Amino acid sequence: MPPLLMTQSFHTSHTATPIPMTTADRSISPSPSLTDTAVPRTIGKVYLVGGGPGDPGLLTLKGAECLRRADLILYDGLVNPMLLRHGHAAVERTCRAEGPLGRLLPQDEINRRLIAAAKEGKTVVRLKGGDPFIFGRGSEEAAALAAEGIPFEVVPGITAATAAAVYTGISLTHRDHASAVAFITGHEDPSKPATALDYNSLAHFPGTLVFYMGLHRLEAITSALIAAGKPADTPTCVVCRATQPLQRSVTGTLNDITSLAKSAGLQPPSLVIIGDCVKVREQASWFEDRPLFGQVIGITRPEEQADDAAQQAYELGALPVMLPTIEITPPDDWSEVDALLPRLRSFDWIVFTSANGVRGLLSRLWQTGGDVRSLGQAKLACIGPATAAVLEEFSLRADLIPNEYRAEALAAALKPHIANRRVLWARASRGREVLTTELTAAGATLEQIVVYQNRDLTELPRSELDRLERGDLHWIGLSSPSIARSFARLLTPTARQHLGVKTRLASISPVTTAAAQAVGLPIAAEATEFTWPGLFRAMIAAHQPEA
Ligand code: SAH
Repeated sequence: MPPLLMTQSFHTSHTATPIPMTTADRSISPSPSLTDTAVPRTIGKVYLVGGGPGDPGLLTLKGAECLRRADLILYDGLVNPMLLRHGHAAVERTCRAEGPLGRLLPQDEINRRLIAAAKEGKTVVRLKGGDPFIFGRGSEEAAALAAEGIPFEVVPGITAATAAAVYTGISLTHRDHASAVAFITGHEDPSKPATALDYNSLAHFPGTLVFYMGLHRLEAITSALIAAGKPADTPTCVVCRATQPLQRSVTGTLNDITSLAKSAGLQPPSLVIIGDCVKVREQASWFEDRPLFGQVIGITRPEEQADDAAQQAYELGALPVMLPTIEITPPDDWSEVDALLPRLRSFDWIVFTSANGVRGLLSRLWQTGGDVRSLGQAKLACIGPATAAVLEEFSLRADLIPNEYRAEALAAALKPHIANRRVLWARASRGREVLTTELTAAGATLEQIVVYQNRDLTELPRSELDRLERGDLHWIGLSSPSIARSFARLLTPTARQHLGVKTRLASISPVTTAAAQAVGLPIAAEATEFTWPGLFRAMIAAHQPEA
């Protein structure tokens, strides 16, 4: 499994707004000394930036600013590709994964590219995992740049050792257990006489030992330490994919950690922490205790709207995987909408049943020269809080949101207000017709206008379908009847056989459950609040059945 599995589920479109960066962040004045922007320049500059250990939030503000300004980004295999969303530059990956096999470009070639791009006047970011100067060959790149007279800066990053320790609840310098910490490369082969590591000194080091790149040589390292006098019962922890949703950690002693790590199937990138501080990890454990930790969750929302749900999954400890089954597009022809816009103020109520409905109508209004004043005194009804939140983006307040976020409840809540009133429903090209029937029955004069199209996709993304077919997903959230039907159509027989066994389906509402069951999808959990947070709560409840 590639080390950055979690990141591959996110599309790396540079237009999408990433998680950690807010508008406020962008207004912070840059700390990189980009003085060259003030002077006409002939030569660019290279920033060697530490991208941190994997969690995309663990990038420094200075690093993010460098990415934002870069013309070219060269990133290595340990870097989370989500970080690229901070930039708008051309990007090149220099290795696929750790080790010689993953290398796409040799170091000399990387140096040459950095130098060549800077000489063309480009601002270049060399983005590296963790900290660029901790076992990262960043200093070699800096030396190569210096030799050519290329200006450069180095931006530190959070290195894997400190991040892995914190995310497993270990304090490397817990004052009851260690007064020093050593970062060591496990890459050196201890069986070779020429090894640079002095195991005798390491075995007697008065503190915590952290081995980078040590998984392949775990057995050799632990035996060499024991042979040099380190007690065989010294607590030891191996942490794999630290700070990422699929982080795994195994705790044992110097004596048994090799077999424990092997039977747990741990893979690089992994780090080995040795010392008494490992004993107290349970007391400070937090990352692995989150309610959906380690769960791989399929998000079926249309891709351009999936970021919020993905972020929520992530915060709950899960790895989100994008499984869009439908796409949202503007109407092929706006003429009907445009003809209606001048009459908007004639309506008593405007009803929105999705965020897309709000965006479709109000963005078109803006684009055609109108603004919210064109709505006159019309009252605004929304199916739920997510839709109302988009109204707020346009500085509009919802006048009515039903207690239950479904069409029947919306119709019931509107009923007392709409007899003999003019009501407009801004809707999708297809969907349930409950509102049409109910609002008309309540005496409203109803007009419906299609402000966006909702289309079935013809296939799932290939890499995600592979995961489905391997049964790698724990949960899939189905967030509307049309998504459920479309999902069922896109499933292959191999993927389908995992449903209800390895991969469970959660439905956002009873209506979605009925639609899913009608096309043969087994539903294992149903949300009681019809939102994505509600869906996640249903998954959590299914994990922890009430006693
Ligand atoms: N410059 C990087 C280290 C590069 S050497 C840093 O400062 O973190 C690569 C080694 O770092 C890997 O073999 C592994 O031991 C460690 N490593 C990097 N990211 C890791 C992660 N997310 N989890 C566990 N170990 C990691």
